[in-house]
Amino acid sequence: MSSNLETTPRAVVLVSGGLDSATTLAIARHSGFDCYALSFDYGQRHRHELEAAKRVCSTIGVSEHAVVPLDLRQFGGSALTSEIAVPKDRDEKTMSAGIPVTYVPARNTVFLSIALAWAEVLGAFDLFIGVNAVDYSGYPDCRPEFIDRFERLANVATKAGVEGAGLFQIHTPLILLKKTEIIAKGIELGVDFGLTHSCYDPFPDGTPCGHCDSCKLRLAGFAEAGLADPLVYAS
Ligand SMILES: [Zn+2]
Repeated sequence: MSSNLETTPRAVVLVSGGLDSATTLAIARHSGFDCYALSFDYGQRHRHELEAAKRVCSTIGVSEHAVVPLDLRQFGGSALTSEIAVPKDRDEKTMSAGIPVTYVPARNTVFLSIALAWAEVLGAFDLFIGVNAVDYSGYPDCRPEFIDRFERLANVATKAGVEGAGLFQIHTPLILLKKTEIIAKGIELGVDFGLTHSCYDPFPDGTPCGHCDSCKLRLAGFAEAGLADPLVYAS
């Protein structure tokens, strides 16, 4: 592999440790990119996802995995970064109505900005993020409108963009896929979903709760795909 590095384009891939980002990383690898994975230790309630991110990166294969500390708990404002309770057992209709309390203020803007900074240093023009506008329609920073505007911003905000060294592209291969289609794609690419972590409110040992929006969407996705989720849930 290393003999190809000079000609292989580099990409920065946001990897949270969840099912969607693992699939996104696999897609970036299969698209021929030399991947630089980026995770954030942002004070999230579900810190087990950082361990999952490390497992996913080492299994799928990245040139480097950076974990950037960024304490969003200083501001809070989300059930994932403060003591606000994580909603449980909501049906899909309730989940898709409005912006949930698990929304982390401006998170993807913050994350993509740091990914862009690293990309510019690496000479990379391709950024991958596993956002999805179907199952999480309530999150404003997961929508195509946001990604389109950020991509334009990237090209006017950077030295590399202004000098025309290349054109920044934000890749969102999952944005219009249903959860079950994401799972099918991941399986096709050999992703081991047993290494991933999706729960917003896991038990101290990392066992997923099975009742938060993220667990419910994940379980429904596996069920619809006719597959068993390899994770063991709390009874
Ligand atoms: Zn959960």
